Amino acid sequence: MGNVLVIAEHRDGQLKKASLSAFAFAKKYVQKQGGEFSILVMGHNVGAVADAASCFGAAKVFVADHADLANYLAESYAAVAAQAAKDAGAQVVAATTTTQAKDLLPRVAAKLEAGMASDIVGLLDNGWFLRPVWAGSAVVEVEISTPVKVVTVRQTEFEAAPKGAAGGQKVPVNVAVNLGALRKRFEKFEVIKSERPELTDARVIVSGGRGTKGADGFKLLEGLADLLGAAVGATRAAVDAGWVPNDLQVGQTGKVVAPELYIAAGVSGAIQHLAGMKSSKVIVAINKDPEAPIFNVADYGLVADLFKAVPEMAEEIKKAKA
Ligand SMILES: Cc1cc2nc3c(=O)[nH]c(=O)nc-3n(C[C@H](O)[C@H](O)[C@H](O)COP(=O)(O)OP(=O)(O)OC[C@H]3O[C@@H](n4cnc5c(N)ncnc54)[C@H](O)[C@@H]3O)c2cc1C
Repeated sequence: MGNVLVIAEHRDGQLKKASLSAFAFAKKYVQKQGGEFSILVMGHNVGAVADAASCFGAAKVFVADHADLANYLAESYAAVAAQAAKDAGAQVVAATTTTQAKDLLPRVAAKLEAGMASDIVGLLDNGWFLRPVWAGSAVVEVEISTPVKVVTVRQTEFEAAPKGAAGGQKVPVNVAVNLGALRKRFEKFEVIKSERPELTDARVIVSGGRGTKGADGFKLLEGLADLLGAAVGATRAAVDAGWVPNDLQVGQTGKVVAPELYIAAGVSGAIQHLAGMKSSKVIVAINKDPEAPIFNVADYGLVADLFKAVPEMAEEIKKAKA
């Protein structure tokens, strides 16, 4: 038996799409190992989120609703999640690999004295997990031998659980957080507003690297992205140079994406970049160096100067749309 508790994420009263992948993982796990799957919603005034979470086949939705949880802080959330994991009799605590989960789950694991596997991509029948190592060059089979196991789940490898009818029983969690005693306090949350889709949800991504030569070069890619309804991504080289914000970084130390179409312009295809995008359905590479490693993973390769090729592509798309 292996009860699974999934920590759900939400923003502005909406359940995040990313969490649906962890729900799918949990369903698969309990199918193989027995037990039941539950969801934990933490925050303040989260009734609507709990309602939404109850539509994904979980036996229970644990709800930690308290003014002290209004803003995310790893310390307070980890304490509540560990309490909920005990309430749920969870042998596995899971969440989709997101920026918040990378911050939170290791702390939950420490509180539960649990072993942890991050960014898992699969499950074996014996309860072991699969996770990539060496920038995705190898996949290892991991056994977590502690009674409670904590995992984060790669979104692109578990198809979002489908929404069904409301059903999960709501269970309140006793929240005993002393915000004043924490070593951190919440100051402010700044949202970068963009009309473009989120990188991890986008069907199409136009990504740029050092070959764009600067923020102005990225403007060309943004124009192409807007014509395609795409998100903009970047290599670490472009982020480190300060040309684009770091939430656009794709790769081993950035976001892992698997859109239907990934256009990489001026990107060499370093292994650390490929680790974040090589599962994309169709990859188009534009690079003036015919030897660039990105061409090894590209379905369509264009050996060209991006400053010429990208405006030409944009022109053709405009004509096709007219
Ligand atoms: C621990 C670690 C983690 C890392 N994590 C990441 C990560 O998450 N994501 C990531 O991206 N990188 C990561 N890196 C960095 C990675 O190793 C590469 O340095 C980086 O991806 C290179 O970025 P780039 O392709 O933009 O630049 P470059 O390798 O410099 O490539 C630029 C490319 O642009 C082409 N080009 C130049 N001018 C033009 C033009 N006018 N038209 C068309 N093409 C042109 C060139 O031919 C070249 O192929 C990591 C590295 C380490 C060590």
